[in-house]
Amino acid sequence: MRHRIAVVGSGPAGLTLARVLHRHGYPVTVLERDPAPDARPPGGTLDLHEGLGQRALDKAGLLAEFQALSRPEGQAMRILDPHGTVLRDWRPRPDDRAHPEIDRGQLRDLLLGPLDVQWGRGVAQVLPGTRDGALVHFADGRQEAFDLVVGADGAWSRVRPAVSSVTPHYTGVTLVETSLDDVDTRHPDLARLIGDGSMAVYGVNRALVAQRNSGGHVKVYVQLRAPLDWHTNLDLTDVEAVRSSLLARFDGWAAPVLGLLRHGTAFVHRPLFVLPVSHTWTHVPGVTLLGDAAHLMPPLGAGANLAMLEGAELAESIATGPGDLDEAVLAFEEQMWARAGQWAKMTMAGLERLVSPDPAEALALFDQVQPS
Ligand SMILES: Cc1cc2nc3c(=O)[nH]c(=O)nc-3n(C[C@H](O)[C@H](O)[C@H](O)COP(=O)(O)OP(=O)(O)OC[C@H]3O[C@@H](n4cnc5c(N)ncnc54)[C@H](O)[C@@H]3O)c2cc1C
Repeated sequence: MRHRIAVVGSGPAGLTLARVLHRHGYPVTVLERDPAPDARPPGGTLDLHEGLGQRALDKAGLLAEFQALSRPEGQAMRILDPHGTVLRDWRPRPDDRAHPEIDRGQLRDLLLGPLDVQWGRGVAQVLPGTRDGALVHFADGRQEAFDLVVGADGAWSRVRPAVSSVTPHYTGVTLVETSLDDVDTRHPDLARLIGDGSMAVYGVNRALVAQRNSGGHVKVYVQLRAPLDWHTNLDLTDVEAVRSSLLARFDGWAAPVLGLLRHGTAFVHRPLFVLPVSHTWTHVPGVTLLGDAAHLMPPLGAGANLAMLEGAELAESIATGPGDLDEAVLAFEEQMWARAGQWAKMTMAGLERLVSPDPAEALALFDQVQPS
């Protein structure tokens, strides 16, 4: 029997779920709030791990295409001190495919493929347990019933309240994101400083991280341990005011490093929120969550990977399992909770060390996780 399945959200979680269901010939409805795939800038590069995101792409039959698009050289990682001295410079071996980088837009298009996403269909609320199944209320007032609604709608999920009353809380760390274009031709000194992958500089309760995307595009993340209202006297829409305020916070850092801020084009404020470590809920028939909607955690390279693997695993257990939808979802949830709980614990501990009063902690963390 084919169940009526709705996936809310076309991020890495929702698209992987839909794509693996599609591969098994299983019909699925994808509901996305954005009016079109390119309605917003897609965000920075993602590193997809062999045992997580790449495993999910394998289940979707897309691993070879990923390998053709991804950037293994992007695994390079360099750490400088605030004076500009290089402290560590890790470069991948030529055959290293442990966690190559891919632009988010490329990953989205790869997963989208033949999928027929319903764009511009923002979900307002989901009511489980009605006579006709789980009822989706759309932002435009319409309603539609499904046997299973999967909330893959990210940090501020509108599906989550159907299973859990928990909401995200502030970590104490804020990112301010800026970008550089055509870095190799327009800013060759910065291009050399960054190298082929990522570059990070750690100071007291602050850091600057630069990551190469494809085509000479670089994303720069200012990381600040600061109260949520740190910008009270700052107009966040005033690019020059934000630049000056950030430069003042990094006063005394080497000029080449500060070039990342001086040449940044716009600044996007991203306070980091998380769900509690090991967020679970009492199973509700007809509704589940995956990805950030289920376990929002600090962005330390795991969120999209977990989201994709969960999407692939849920799809497989629905499409190839014994047929009882509710049992398939319950088994999936238990597996997701156990794995995501471990990662949430690790990434929270990692964030404490990366943006901390003692910059040596950040270096020690990298020394533990980077291959020697
Ligand atoms: C700066 C930064 C860097 C990161 N780097 C990495 C990395 O290198 N590796 C990694 O694994 N992870 C990384 N992450 C984490 C990663 O981005 C997320 O974990 C991942 O995007 C979660 O995927 P998702 O599909 O669950 O949610 P999302 O990507 O948030 O997608 C949710 C989708 O749902 C849609 N939506 C939202 N509300 C509604 C609604 N009401 N109705 C319909 N649609 C809705 C949204 O428009 C969106 O398309 C990073 C995060 C940040 C902030």
